[in-house]
Amino acid sequence: MTERALKDIALQFGSLDLDRHAFFFDFDGTLAELVDDPANVSLAGELAGDLARLSARTRGAVAIITGRHRDEVAPMLGDIPVAGLHGSDFPGDIARTDQDAVRMAVIRPLLPALADLVAAHPGAILEDKGAGLALHWRGAPGAAEVMSRAADQTLAALGPDWRMQHGKCVAEIRPVGDDKGVALRRFMAEPAFADRRPVAFGDDLNDLPMLQAARDFGGIAVALGERDLPADLRLAGPAALAAWLSERLAA
Ligand SMILES: [Mg+2]
Repeated sequence: MTERALKDIALQFGSLDLDRHAFFFDFDGTLAELVDDPANVSLAGELAGDLARLSARTRGAVAIITGRHRDEVAPMLGDIPVAGLHGSDFPGDIARTDQDAVRMAVIRPLLPALADLVAAHPGAILEDKGAGLALHWRGAPGAAEVMSRAADQTLAALGPDWRMQHGKCVAEIRPVGDDKGVALRRFMAEPAFADRRPVAFGDDLNDLPMLQAARDFGGIAVALGERDLPADLRLAGPAALAAWLSERLAA
């Protein structure tokens, strides 16, 4: 991208028009700082209120797209819609229940061995995502290799209907098909988002389809943190995002 184009985007970002843009946020590492145990996550100070204000001022053109279960983060976010499990847990979906039941039945038998493995590495965590699972080792950095290997073996046992999603100190296994880009497109088809330009914020590899989808709609991709994700703009982390949002709302 030329220097000129970058400058244009930076200007655009500084004066984002709340009547013409839509906003999509990943949760962990984007709105909330990463923590050793994902269960202990929280939103920084003013952020929940600022997101609610952003949603009100954009007339509802704000959504969260996370790898977590929707129910884990939705209570922190008021009326803002949340797509969970990378989009496969989309607000209003009920038709997939049967499919999820089949997926869960396939995953169940593999959990006990992984639970034993995690128990042998204090600080490591097995996250049961229903139709998927994640191994976390932020709290057990020495176990990175053994956790990665276990994830690879689990994926091999599950077969081609499943895929691996690597992230920061996490390996996640989930069904092939949905990703965060699909979720962004689905939101963009809804009246509150349609005809706006999406601005997407993410910090990890699982956000790439969402960042790309935002660009495909003529929008802006914003990367957070140290990962070298392809993006139009960068912010240092959740605190920088919260500061930007608060400043933008005050303008
Ligand atoms: Mg993230």
